[in-house]
Amino acid sequence: MKPVRSSYDVVIVGGGHNGLVAAAYLARAGRSVLLFERQPRIGGAAVSARVFAGFDARLSRYSYLVSLLPRSIVNDLGLRFVTARRSVSSYTPVGEQGLLVSSAHARTEASFARFTGSQREFRAWQGFYGAIGRMARRVFPSLTRPLPSRDELRTIVADQALWEGVFERPLGETIESTFIDDTVRGVVLTDALIGTFTRAHDPSLRQNRCFLYHVIGGGTGQWEVPVGGMGALTDTLAVAARSAGAEIITACEVTKIDTDDTTAEVEFCEGRVGARHVLVNAAPFVLAELLGDSTPRKPAGAQLKVNMLLRRLPRLHDLHVGPREAFSGTFHLGESYTQLDRAYREAAMGRIPSVPPAEIYCHTLTDPTIVASDSATRGMHTLTLFGLHAHADLFAVDPEGAKTGMVNATLAHLDSVLAEPITDCLAVDENGAPCMEALTPPDLERELGLPGGHIFHRELAFPYLPNEADPTDPATRWGVSTDHRNIFLCGAGAIRGGGVSGIPGHNAAMAVLEDGHPTWARTSI
Ligand SMILES: Cc1cc2nc3c(=O)[nH]c(=O)nc-3n(C[C@H](O)[C@H](O)[C@H](O)COP(=O)(O)OP(=O)(O)OC[C@H]3O[C@@H](n4cnc5c(N)ncnc54)[C@H](O)[C@@H]3O)c2cc1C
Repeated sequence: MKPVRSSYDVVIVGGGHNGLVAAAYLARAGRSVLLFERQPRIGGAAVSARVFAGFDARLSRYSYLVSLLPRSIVNDLGLRFVTARRSVSSYTPVGEQGLLVSSAHARTEASFARFTGSQREFRAWQGFYGAIGRMARRVFPSLTRPLPSRDELRTIVADQALWEGVFERPLGETIESTFIDDTVRGVVLTDALIGTFTRAHDPSLRQNRCFLYHVIGGGTGQWEVPVGGMGALTDTLAVAARSAGAEIITACEVTKIDTDDTTAEVEFCEGRVGARHVLVNAAPFVLAELLGDSTPRKPAGAQLKVNMLLRRLPRLHDLHVGPREAFSGTFHLGESYTQLDRAYREAAMGRIPSVPPAEIYCHTLTDPTIVASDSATRGMHTLTLFGLHAHADLFAVDPEGAKTGMVNATLAHLDSVLAEPITDCLAVDENGAPCMEALTPPDLERELGLPGGHIFHRELAFPYLPNEADPTDPATRWGVSTDHRNIFLCGAGAIRGGGVSGIPGHNAAMAVLEDGHPTWARTSI
C-alpha cells in the first residue's frame, strides 16, 4: 500500500496504541493523517496473540493490565473497549501462609491480622492508601490537560506530607516510616519498581515516579483486565482512526526524518512524503537515530515476561486461600522489602538474582473470553509472570543461558509456595512442548523495537513542566516536545507517557491542533 498524497498535515511514525490514538484525534479534527508501522501488525506492546500452537488462546503477550487509560479518551473516540475489575487486589504467599488484599474489607483486615499478628499494619495501610486515593482523584485528570507547573501540581495534590513523600524524598523513607512488616513494605514498593531498575532509597527518585504512575490511574489506581485482551484496545483504536480518515500503512519502516522546523520530509520503505508535523510513537532513542542526531544513551529495560497456558491452576501451601482467589489479583513472589533490595543489588552486580522478584496475573479468572472460542482451550487459564530486576545487561553475553537461569530461578521460587510444581499444570502444545514462553529485554528489543527492551521507552518523568520549559510552546505545554518545532513525541517517551494510556497520543494531538491555532484545543478539551 502506498500513501494517497505526497504531503500530509501529520505523519505518525509508529502504530502502537498511542500512535493510533493521535491518528484518531487528528483525523477526526479534519487533519490529513498518514501513519507508518514497521511491523506487519499494529499495536506495538498492546496486542493479543495466539502464542501456543493448537490453542486459540488470545494472550495479552506483552502488556496485560489497564489503569491509566482515561475514560475521556474512550468516550471521545467512541471506542468499544471495556475493562473488568479484579475481585482481589493482591496476594503474597510467604511459606505456608499469605497476605490477601481484596475488595472485601473484613477479609483483608482478617488476613492482615493473621499475617502480621496485629491490627497496626492494616490501619497504616488504610491511612496510606486513603491519602494516595485522594491524590489519584486530584492528579489523574491533570494528565490530559497542559502540564501544570511544579507549584501548581503541589496545589492540586493538596497534601504537603504526601507531596514530600511521593515527589521529594526517596519513597523508601515514606514506606519505612509508615509500615513495619517486611512483606507489607514490599507490596507497597513493588509499584515503584515495575519496568524500572531501581531501589527504595534511590536519590534520583525514579522509584517515586514509577510509583506515582502505578497508583493514580483512573483516579483510583485500580489495575483492570482488558476484556478480550489488550488486542481489543488496539483493534477498536484502528477502527476509530481509519473511519475518521487516517491512512495506516503496516510493514513499512520509517528510516529518516528531515526537518527545517516548519515542514518535514519522512523517508519510508518505498519513498518520501512531506508533513507539516511529524509525531513519533517510537522511543526518543529511535527518533535521534532517524534524525541523525548524536545518539543519546540507550535506555535499559529490566523485566522478564513469562506467558503460560495452564490446564488447571496450581494448589497452594496456604490453606486459607484457594488458587482462584490467590491468582485473581496480583500474586507477589519474592517481593518482600528485603528480597527486593537483595535482588536489585545482585542484578546491579551483574548476577541473576537468587530469588528473582515477580508478579503473576491470571487474566482468565476475570475475563474467560480470551480462551472461550475454542473447545480445546475452554476452561484453561492463562498465567502472566512479570519479573523485576531482569536488567538488560544480564543478558548481554549469553542471552539464552541467562534467560534459562532467570526463568529457572523464578519458577523454583514459585514452586516453593505451591503444593505442586507449576510445570505439572502447564498445557502441552500440538508439537508436544509445554505452553510457556519467556521474553527478556533483548527479546522485546528484537520483537517490538523497544531500545534496550525498556517498556516505557525511557525513564518516567514527574507530570509537571520542567523548570526551564517555555509554557507558551504548545508541544512543551503538552509534554511532547523534541528539539524540533514540528516534531512531537506521541508515545511512552513523552512526559506522562509510559503504560497503556493513550495519554501521550491524545496530548500530542492536542499540541498539533494548538500549534498555529491556539484557541482550538483550549476550547475543545
Ligand atoms: C512485557 C510488557 C508488559 C507491559 N505491561 C504493561 C501493563 O500491564 N500495563 C500497562 O499499562 N503497560 C504495560 N507495559 C508498558 C506499555 O505496554 C507501553 O508503555 C505502551 O504499550 C507503549 O505504547 P506506545 O504506543 O507509546 O509504544 P509502543 O507500543 O512501543 O509502539 C511503538 C510502535 O512504533 C513502531 N515503530 C518503532 N520504530 C518505527 C519506525 N522507524 N518506523 C515505523 N514504526 C516504528 C513499533 O513497531 C511499535 O509498533 C508493558 C510493556 C511490556 C513490553
